[in-house]
Amino acid sequence: MPRAKKAPDVPADRLDEMLMRLKLSGIRDQLDSLLDEAARASLSTRETLTLLCEREIARKDHRRIEMALKLAHFPAVKELAGFDFEAQPSVDPKQIRDLAASRWIAHGENVLLLGPPGVGKTHLAIALGREAILAGYSVQFTTAMALGAGLAKAKADRRLDEKLLALSKPKLLIVDELGYLPLEPDAAHLFFQLVSRRYEAGAMLITSNRSVAEWGTVFADPVVATAILDRLLHHSHVLTIRGDSYRLRAKRRSGLITPPAGDRAPVGAASLHAVTADHQPNP
Ligand code: ADP
Ligand code: MG
Repeated sequence: MPRAKKAPDVPADRLDEMLMRLKLSGIRDQLDSLLDEAARASLSTRETLTLLCEREIARKDHRRIEMALKLAHFPAVKELAGFDFEAQPSVDPKQIRDLAASRWIAHGENVLLLGPPGVGKTHLAIALGREAILAGYSVQFTTAMALGAGLAKAKADRRLDEKLLALSKPKLLIVDELGYLPLEPDAAHLFFQLVSRRYEAGAMLITSNRSVAEWGTVFADPVVATAILDRLLHHSHVLTIRGDSYRLRAKRRSGLITPPAGDRAPVGAASLHAVTADHQPNP
């Protein structure tokens, strides 16, 4: 009996299959054009292999960064390049560049960005988070409100341990807007548990419109607030931003709003600075 005719589907090319198995999708997808490029440039075998590896690594890095940016849940796209340092003289560009190198994240240190609304705290928090991702760290962004509500819900559902574990996974946890709204009564204890869990293991970046001296009120519990600050400030860089809201500056310039009489610094800015002056960044 004649043998059945071979199925019409052509078996995948062996090289293609091997590249797939090795998860070298960058090389696999562009193999022909990469080999053409190598031939046109008369590359040696070793140079060709280097080119292939470079493109594969570039593709993998790009994908990792895209994925990490998605997982971070940043509320907006903000970059350091878009931060106008001249408009914000209370921010030291050198200190921000140092922080952008992400060594503080490797060491599990904390950054506190304090100051009145509109001075660029969230912008800098996102931009530093982005730099951390580019440096290979995992980052998660949340607000104090969402964090408090999430922890309270996890506790009610008897999943607090699971939630705390999940929140201790990212190398950098950004908590934005602490102090804008009063936290739930239990939030201080929950936040304390989180900070203890991450202490010296994972970095945190917290932004707040309140000075650390006011955190007792923010947490509605001065004793727990002190315990939280004790851990947060141990290895910390505290940046106090002063000055006008960047949002309102543009409106003022266009004459929509009149500038405040006399001192242009908003109420509370001076005391914020005084309180945090003791906590200079670690060398
Ligand atoms: P905050 O979190 O301190 O309330 P934001 O970071 O949300 O302030 O800043 C308000 C808006 O102004 C954002 O759109 C931000 O990108 C922009 N902004 C603030 N400061 C600067 C700055 N120095 N350079 C460029 N944009 C800025
Ligand atoms: Mg903000």
